[in-house]
Amino acid sequence: MNLIFLGPPGAGKGTIAIMIKDRFSIPHISTGDIFRAAIKNETPLGKQVKSILTSGDLVPDEITIKLVEERLACDDIVNGYILDGFPRTIPQAKALGNFTHIDYVINFVINRESIIKRLSGRRIAKDSGKIYHLVNNPPKREGFCDETGEPLIQRDDDKEEAVINRLDVYEKQTAPLIDYYSTMGLLQDIDAAPSPKVVADSLIPLLKL
Ligand code: ADP
Repeated sequence: MNLIFLGPPGAGKGTIAIMIKDRFSIPHISTGDIFRAAIKNETPLGKQVKSILTSGDLVPDEITIKLVEERLACDDIVNGYILDGFPRTIPQAKALGNFTHIDYVINFVINRESIIKRLSGRRIAKDSGKIYHLVNNPPKREGFCDETGEPLIQRDDDKEEAVINRLDVYEKQTAPLIDYYSTMGLLQDIDAAPSPKVVADSLIPLLKL
């Protein structure tokens, strides 16, 4: 099953993807995670995109499209995939349509105020990839990952200025994809405001092939 998770930053796309991927034996492919790993490992790609991610702007389409095309050529997508954070522009969506087919586009619906609250409290564990929230989903031991014990950090782009820029970028460049996929008959809206478990439980029945 080939899925796209669409929605503003902080809607919970990554959290829900991690919760459901094993159920369908499909990988979670997050372009944001791929860029962050490249930055951490100081690869040429990482050096190229570091300042773009910190500001909350988008990496150029050309780079992102090539990266996803290569990723979707890997063997682990035999059963499908969850694309999280891609496509984010109309040219990306058009390019994607040239090299794969999509079964569902899940549109995570949530208001701006809730997003700002969520992102300011979000903390992540780089190695395990787990995502926490100071209030909604705290770790057992404050400041440390439950799984690996590593210290939790705040993403640079979760600082207030970058969050506001990311929301503006989303409205201008990514929100038009809602109409694009709706016209193609692929869009399924999901209320992303409740807790992750409630959102995941409401999503699973929508995914039938
Ligand atoms: P979020 O959805 O929480 O904003 P992501 O982890 O998906 O964050 O992405 C983080 C950053 O990575 C984006 O702000 C952008 O700079 C870059 N990025 C991720 N996916 C794309 C994409 N499809 N096109 C361009 N830039 C991207």
